[in-house]
Amino acid sequence: MKISIKALSCAALATLFSLPSAQAADEVNIYSYRQQFLIQPLLDAFTEETGIATKVVFAKKGLLARLKHEDKNSPADVLLTSDIGPLYDAVEQGLTQPIRSEIIDRNVPAKYRDPAHQWVGLTSRSRIIYASKERVEAGEISRYEDLTDPKWKGRICTRSGKHTYNLSLIGSMIAHKGEAETKQWVEGLKANLARKPQGNDRAQVKAVKEGVCDIALGNSYYFGKMITNDKKPEQIEWAQSVNLIFPNQDDRGAHMNISGAAITKYAPHPAAAQKLIEFLTTEKAQKLYAEVNFEFPVRPGTERSELLNKYMGEFKEDAINLQKVAEQRSAAAKLADQVGFDN
Ligand code: FE
Repeated sequence: MKISIKALSCAALATLFSLPSAQAADEVNIYSYRQQFLIQPLLDAFTEETGIATKVVFAKKGLLARLKHEDKNSPADVLLTSDIGPLYDAVEQGLTQPIRSEIIDRNVPAKYRDPAHQWVGLTSRSRIIYASKERVEAGEISRYEDLTDPKWKGRICTRSGKHTYNLSLIGSMIAHKGEAETKQWVEGLKANLARKPQGNDRAQVKAVKEGVCDIALGNSYYFGKMITNDKKPEQIEWAQSVNLIFPNQDDRGAHMNISGAAITKYAPHPAAAQKLIEFLTTEKAQKLYAEVNFEFPVRPGTERSELLNKYMGEFKEDAINLQKVAEQRSAAAKLADQVGFDN
């Protein structure tokens, strides 16, 4: 039978002459702040399950600027980050589009999703207190608020107050307690520091081991990275020198942050992008993703790794929606500047 082209609607014509849709969506391009070793096993599993190929650009910084510069010509479909900060900034800069997925809504608790659907959390971590086993007794410190107690004068170590991890922690204080009270807290914490903020999270635990300070702030997964570090066994010793304290267990719970994802505004393959993010929230991917970096799965009921169960167990998480925390990050940066936190 002959088909009369004239008789076909525009939509039907498009179908007739376009590539099969499966082929068009056969790849997804990722701009990632997460390191390759963390996500490659997951991407391989995704390709195996869906037949969709993945391409990744890894970078430590500059991906948002690149997205902005590339604008409509960007090949990127998905942005993967290791913190809420860059996700929030990407949304603020108009670099993302909404993700509407029942699968994601089912798999990821609302507190780890943007109420406006622009970002999704994929793993979680807590910003905890690392306390010297030798010099801090059990129960001596149990809340972030305690960090300003004069008894800790000259005994606390942390990285820069402007680092994204600390901005979120300060932001969570602002979200819960308001700016005036948080300013006092940041001042009190600054007054108790053993040294000028410097180094990364692990360097603070090293400083505890070396007696520079008795208490450090750090993300929870660094404990796993240190305690298993056969290549740098000195890190095992750093980790062995501290107890892990998940703060505020009798009130709001420990401050949490996420690694997460967003679909870029001009994603050439939005359907494949959504499929990838959905895949990353499935039980299998959640277990793998969290385990490889000693993080916590965001998907309720997902088994945690043996190591996490051994050293961290269950704890109370702050229930606040992370968007509320992220909204306070610029106010947090201002506070850190005002009190000269890094000076
Ligand atoms: Fe980190």
